Amino acid sequence: MVHVGIGYDVHPLVEGRRLVLGGVEIPHTKGLDGHSDADALIHAITDALLGAVGEVDIGHLFPNTDPTWKNAPSRIFLEEAARRVRARGGRIVNIDASLAAERPKIYPHLSAMKDHLSAALGIPREKVGIKATTNERLGFIGREEGIAAMAVAAVDLPE
Ligand code: MG
Repeated sequence: MVHVGIGYDVHPLVEGRRLVLGGVEIPHTKGLDGHSDADALIHAITDALLGAVGEVDIGHLFPNTDPTWKNAPSRIFLEEAARRVRARGGRIVNIDASLAAERPKIYPHLSAMKDHLSAALGIPREKVGIKATTNERLGFIGREEGIAAMAVAAVDLPE
């Protein structure tokens, strides 16, 4: 039986931080702020997977009060979500995600992100969808104050 999950995340853009999205470092004047590497795309996908198997969200699994996760690569969180899917006898059917960022251009980095995510999840690259859009200069994303990501995951679980 296929179960779906949804995930959403936002992190503020600040100076003096690296910009990491989908596990890929993107050259830019600002980076995402947060306790871990603040990879909003991976956080959204992690929550989508956790939601599909009915687990608690990423913030409860990896609290930002825990020094273990300070500047941690978010791949750790994604791999743990995939491990929990497998522990339930589940199989990730596909994931799909959208990034909303005014700048920088995300498109040139999508292919590298897909490589990274498919490796972390242990699924073929064709099962990983990522799109990027601007926010048409509207709101906090349009003012380049932050970047948002949303994701869905489909997981085949035994009855
Ligand atoms: Mg986050």
